[in-house]
Amino acid sequence: MPKPDLFADTEHARPPRKKPRVMAHVSVAAIDVIEFECLQCGWSSGWLEFDMTITEAKRGIPCPNCNPQSTPQE
Ligand SMILES: [Zn+2]
Repeated sequence: MPKPDLFADTEHARPPRKKPRVMAHVSVAAIDVIEFECLQCGWSSGWLEFDMTITEAKRGIPCPNCNPQSTPQE
């Protein structure tokens, strides 16, 4: 008896899951500038204008090296 083709079935039934993004986290934050650093590859954002909320800053930004095809979400 052949195995049921579960994979083909689920692949079409479900939308592809979002890949978890590698996030660069705050390396240095000052009054009006902030720097993010990726713990995965060591990428550094350099000084950015601190024009985000603390919550956004703490969440980090997607690392461009580790997420080459990342599209804006949320
Ligand atoms: Zn990275």
